[in-house]
Amino acid sequence: MTESTYRIQGATGDWEVVIGLEVHAQVTSNSKLFSGSATAFGAEPNSQVSLVDAAMPGMLPVPNRECIRQAVRTGLAINAQINKWSRFDRKNYFYADLPQGYQISQLYHPLVGEGSIEIQLDEKDPEGSTKTIGIERIHVEQDAGKLMHDQHPTMSYVDLNRSGVALMEIVSRPDMRSPAEAGAYLSKLRTILRYVGSCDGNMDQGSMRADVNVSVRRPGEPFGTRTETKNVNSVRFVMQTIEHEANRQVDLIESGGKVVQETRLFDPNTGSTRSMRSKEDAHDYRYFPDPDLLPLELDDAFLEECRNSLPELPDAKRHRYEHDLGLSPYNAGVLTADVDTARWFELLLGECAKAQGKQPAEVARQAANWLISELFGALNKLGKSLEESPVTPEKAAELLALIGIGTISGSIAKQVLEIMLETGNGAAVIVEREGLKQESDSGAIEAAVDQVLAGNADKVEQYRGGKVALFGFFVGQTMKAMQGKANPQVVNEILKSKLG
Ligand code: ADP
Ligand code: MG
Repeated sequence: MTESTYRIQGATGDWEVVIGLEVHAQVTSNSKLFSGSATAFGAEPNSQVSLVDAAMPGMLPVPNRECIRQAVRTGLAINAQINKWSRFDRKNYFYADLPQGYQISQLYHPLVGEGSIEIQLDEKDPEGSTKTIGIERIHVEQDAGKLMHDQHPTMSYVDLNRSGVALMEIVSRPDMRSPAEAGAYLSKLRTILRYVGSCDGNMDQGSMRADVNVSVRRPGEPFGTRTETKNVNSVRFVMQTIEHEANRQVDLIESGGKVVQETRLFDPNTGSTRSMRSKEDAHDYRYFPDPDLLPLELDDAFLEECRNSLPELPDAKRHRYEHDLGLSPYNAGVLTADVDTARWFELLLGECAKAQGKQPAEVARQAANWLISELFGALNKLGKSLEESPVTPEKAAELLALIGIGTISGSIAKQVLEIMLETGNGAAVIVEREGLKQESDSGAIEAAVDQVLAGNADKVEQYRGGKVALFGFFVGQTMKAMQGKANPQVVNEILKSKLG
């Protein structure tokens, strides 16, 4: 574990930043936490509202097993303690988008207890230094509806589609010490949720949002008073919030003021935060056990099913890519950061092994390097994601096999990939049609080498006199003479023997 040394330089000395995140993650499920209404994003306002969600008198909530299951699976994925006995509480407050007048949540006995998430501090660091961020709890609760202020000149509208949708609130310990650590934590959490399939992680659609708790202190001193900035909806905004809020607190303290515990709002247009209301305490909400709901009791069979349903998780996958497939920590990190990328890579690996008659571990480095440095780049230029790639894993494997057996060189493969992306044709067909086959015939290459050496007698002399860096020049000239199609290995061998 490496301690971050991120500091804010104040007028009176250095300050350390302390950060804890409360992340609201919308549970992936077909229906809401306590009703059968649909949860799809983007539906007509108020088209997914049952009598329970609208809080009609006498309606009774019924817990949705799938939502509980998803929260338990998430807890297991962050090595957390699962509480076999938990209970729902009412959190009482009045707001126009909350028809019940209370939110059903869990304060005293949450479903998931302590866990942890490991973050990578520097993706490029070959040592791969990591830090463990503690998780305090995950509780399950209902979302509220949404007020729409821009639909009518003098009135606000209420959309209750989101009312009653299940959320997991994932509360971290105040273990982060820099904007970068908080960014890495949020990204890692999103990666895990997507692997587990318990939240789609789409922050721009509001399925994941963070309350950002920030305080500052002199290094080594006790924690300072924190502020909480609500509902920040991107990794970048979370980092900006921390940066801005920490600097504001330092300025405030250094000019003789005091940080007050309050709730703040982030304004993406200015990158700054402003006060929303003074912070309420738990007792302000008059929490009490919801009398309409029995405590949740989980049995071993249920927990076992949750555990067995988990896929290989990002840390395990990353470790396997490094140790069993021989990938660099950086490549392993890139390929496992997103579950869809990892899936695509593994399909590619299977196809490559099949096409080249080798073990996956023998083709893994070639496949990983090509995917990261060639296909990602090419798709990026086209503005396409991996899922939209016209080149499938199977077609990519055909191209890689041609490189593997020496039919084409890496640089010709770039051209072939471009044509594949344009036309959708297979690699072998393109190589044949465009005459891109690599020349491995030593006779033809030897002739080209002789020509190059004869035409550059002065450089040959310099090379033999000790200027060995000229070797690359001869390779380049020979390649040029052969229109890029000479087998580089053969070129090297022939040049070496001729130059002596
Ligand atoms: P509440 O629910 O009232 O906001 P919690 O005790 O659940 O209060 O804490 C909320 C979050 O605040 C947690 O993520 C925790 O890590 C973080 N936190 C607590 N103390 C501090 C502090 N001094 N500085 C920064 N974050 C803090
Ligand atoms: Mg809070």
